[in-house]
Amino acid sequence: MNSPATLLEAVKYFSDPDVALGCMVAIRWPNGITCPRCDSTEHSFVRTRRIWICKGCKKHFSVKLGTIMEDSPIGLDKWLSAMWLLANCKNGISSYEISRDLNVTQKTGWFMLHRIRYAQHNGSINKMTGL
Ligand SMILES: [Zn+2]
Repeated sequence: MNSPATLLEAVKYFSDPDVALGCMVAIRWPNGITCPRCDSTEHSFVRTRRIWICKGCKKHFSVKLGTIMEDSPIGLDKWLSAMWLLANCKNGISSYEISRDLNVTQKTGWFMLHRIRYAQHNGSINKMTGL
């Protein structure tokens, strides 16, 4: 992924759903796409819905399933732009800035900020699993 240099570039770059999906796949599965349920690497991609059907457990999964983004309707483009902001603003970023820059509510900005910080702290965008 060639990193966008400015927020404007980032937002534009991630607004292409296929680019956004490709970036998210690269972040989440650097060693290849794996089923979040059964860890199978055998799957088929449903391009129209941007989901995979696992050949192991026969269930489908999206890039969001099992991650910090799972239970939110926020698009990948906004998540990626928010991650870009957090990675590139060394002095920190507030939920108000996310709200203003990404055109989401301040509540949504706060939610995203907390989820991304959690991921940074854990070194992974995957949700905590197990006990
Ligand atoms: Zn599976």
